[in-house]
Amino acid sequence: MAQLSPMMTQYLSLKEKYKDCILFFRLGDFYEMFFEDALLVSKELELTLTGRNCGLEERAPMCGVPFHSASTYIQRLIDNGHKIAICEQVSDPATSKGLVDREVIRIISQGTVVDMAMLDESQNNFIASVYTQGKNAGISYCDISTGEFFAYTVKNYEQILKDEILRISPKEIIFSNQDIEAQLQSMAACTLLDFNEFSLTNVKPILLKQFALVSLNDLHLDSEFAIKAAGALLNYLGDTQKIQLSHITSLKQYIKTETMFLDEVTRINLELTKSMRNGVKRGSLLWILDKTCTAMGARHLKNWVDQPLTVKEKIEYRLDIVEAFTKNFVLCDMLRESLKNVYDLERILSKIAYKSISPRDCLAILRSLKEIPNIKNVLLNSNMNALQNLSAQLDPLENLCELLEKAIDPEAPITTAEGGFINKGFHNQLDELKEASLHGKQWLLELEEKEKQETGIKNLKISYNRIFGYYIEITKSNIPLVPLRYVRKQTLTGSERYTTEELQKIENKIVNAMQLSLKLEFEIFEQIRLSIEALIHRIQGIANILKELDVFCTLASVALDNQYVRPDLNEEGKLEIQEGRHPIVEVMQKDVDFISNDIFMNNSTDRTLIITGPNMSGKSTYMRQTAMIAIMAHIGSFVPAKSANISILDRVFTRIGASDSLSDGQSTFMVEMSQTANILKNATDKSLLILDEIGRGTSTFDGLSIAWAVVEYISKKLGAKTLFATHYHELSDLEGNLDGVKNYCISVKEFGNDIIFLRKIIRGGADKSYGIHVAQLAGVPLDVIKLANKILFRLESADINNGMISQNIMGKVKKEATQLDLFHTEHDKLVEEMKLIDVMSLTPMQAMTELLRLTEKAKQI
Ligand code: ATP
Repeated sequence: MAQLSPMMTQYLSLKEKYKDCILFFRLGDFYEMFFEDALLVSKELELTLTGRNCGLEERAPMCGVPFHSASTYIQRLIDNGHKIAICEQVSDPATSKGLVDREVIRIISQGTVVDMAMLDESQNNFIASVYTQGKNAGISYCDISTGEFFAYTVKNYEQILKDEILRISPKEIIFSNQDIEAQLQSMAACTLLDFNEFSLTNVKPILLKQFALVSLNDLHLDSEFAIKAAGALLNYLGDTQKIQLSHITSLKQYIKTETMFLDEVTRINLELTKSMRNGVKRGSLLWILDKTCTAMGARHLKNWVDQPLTVKEKIEYRLDIVEAFTKNFVLCDMLRESLKNVYDLERILSKIAYKSISPRDCLAILRSLKEIPNIKNVLLNSNMNALQNLSAQLDPLENLCELLEKAIDPEAPITTAEGGFINKGFHNQLDELKEASLHGKQWLLELEEKEKQETGIKNLKISYNRIFGYYIEITKSNIPLVPLRYVRKQTLTGSERYTTEELQKIENKIVNAMQLSLKLEFEIFEQIRLSIEALIHRIQGIANILKELDVFCTLASVALDNQYVRPDLNEEGKLEIQEGRHPIVEVMQKDVDFISNDIFMNNSTDRTLIITGPNMSGKSTYMRQTAMIAIMAHIGSFVPAKSANISILDRVFTRIGASDSLSDGQSTFMVEMSQTANILKNATDKSLLILDEIGRGTSTFDGLSIAWAVVEYISKKLGAKTLFATHYHELSDLEGNLDGVKNYCISVKEFGNDIIFLRKIIRGGADKSYGIHVAQLAGVPLDVIKLANKILFRLESADINNGMISQNIMGKVKKEATQLDLFHTEHDKLVEEMKLIDVMSLTPMQAMTELLRLTEKAKQI
């Protein structure tokens, strides 16, 4: 009976353990996949599907990728949502009897990528864990490529879980509760874990061991929910990465109350990190602010933009430093020059834990550390306490620098397989071995000369062949002169071949030197790796300070380049901006001067601003710039204005533009209303609301009523500061009738049939929208514009009764439309005809006749 081959049995038993993964099974220089994995991978990666004899009648489907270029294939597969189990040969094929031992050494999924080539250096790559119990959720998230690890608790999670997860934006999620699966799956690759994985009994020893603690209280997390989420995540990472995660050195409490909660809609609408047009960084606020010099700084800045602060003192701390750098730009420049030489220490440290660090990475650590004395010095000379404190905290790690400087060859090759990366003079034995492999030939020549002298055999020769190795060849006639210490190796017709103890020694040195020196180099390198590993925590401390400095410097530099000012902060609810500008529009539209505008809001008299004005006049831009300036201030950035005094806000909400969410089963109007509902449920008197054209997606009177009611509700019940742009000019009536409402409009100038957009906000309400004019600007065909103008004229003079246009008017409008014969009006035909007449070629008589004909025709129209 046919029986599976031993290797296939080994394969299948491993595959059984990693059913949810594609098993990359190492066979020599390839990773091979078999059976259903092979069918799937060959299709997704367009690889040739072959077969392998597996002992059964039918061959096993097989496909493979070369191991040295596996990362590109792995990346494509994990991008498609797969997990990959990397199975390596763990015993030496040369010395193994029978089957080579194989083990899965790591599982790679979207949330556990550490290969720098597969990561975006300017963003974190988080994996999150969600544990729910009752109404509470514990959320934890970790970036194993940097070692950053956070946890916190969310109360009444159901409403806000999605926004919380979107803030973190993880690539992968593990979770405990099947009920939230559908919701999570729309955001990232998900794995439902057994509830037990989150139990305290399970997670406690894992957390205590990882952070060398005695009690879970020492973690200072805000609840058991957070502890459980974090513990389960750490356990999952340990299980899948199968390494000691020595670079995860701390678990930080994310303090929700200290940061401004921005829902996804607001992040998108305000283009904080991605532009709305194509979802990329260019065109976003982050793109404007990010002039960082290091990858760590770029990621840190993104986190600041994603999480503006709400604690005044903390924001002031940031603003103080940014201001110090704007005032002393030489200092800032000197720091930036140094920071340009700082590598991505956080991600290099993860390579220490994964034992994948290379000599070049060590040089990168060294070069980064060598900047520290300079940076310390610059900070010390800053005359600012906060910066001098940072200087004191910066650890120059002199011993490590000395070790790396002495040990690692500055010209170390990229690939380490051939060795040659440890400096000469660092290790005696290694030097000798290298000497042996390099100078072996010289030694042989010297020995040959010595033997000639000692034996008196002039034609004595030392040679080499692959079977016998090195030998001394003596021709037959000289054999009597051969000394006793010579040991015969081989007899030929005309000569004898010998070896001696000394030749043997040299041979051993030469042949083994390469292998030995390589082995020793790796052993020495492992010692260096261990020395760095022992310092991971301290290097992370350095990285934390450097990335923060990088962000401070970039904010100062952008502030100077773009003429931003330091905002004042208040807790009295005042929001006053003079000559505010939109940070993105002013940069993107270089050819048009951006017109700045003021705003004044408070908690009493000027709480709700109703903004009217023609289409395209700049209402949205004005409202967005107000929200963006407020958010920039909370980030700790200077702002695009002449002056700004910003009240500390708990949240900023936006409801802008039309979009549907068909995948969630929501129509455009439904989306508009759900967003409005969310705002009305969650806004407080400390929130800023940007509401653009609420109620536009339905009939005029339904829409107007909703808009009106929303304004009244916000004003009376919530007290949130609100910017409300609308084309319902009727809402202007609210000023005077509702506390805190003020009317503003964006001014335009009529110029004959044209309008000029002045882009200036002024007090009062607008009475016209000029929508048809904008339609014309947009290139809507002239016939449609003409018809629209006629319809508008009729409608404006019509009596509108209970929302119904009277039959009489409707009839007239219909007649108008038919008469216009949209595309070929008689009028247009006549004009076209006149354009074709070449008057100068006609005789006076012909001209008269033609004129008569045309005037007759015109009378008919
Ligand atoms: P609609 O009512 O049609 O939505 P709107 O009044 O909201 O229009 P915006 O979308 O804000 O108008 O602005 C239209 C365009 O005008 C912007 O894309 C921008 O190019 C330009 N713009 C707006 N404000 C200014 C300004 N202050 N200075 C210069 N250009 C501006």
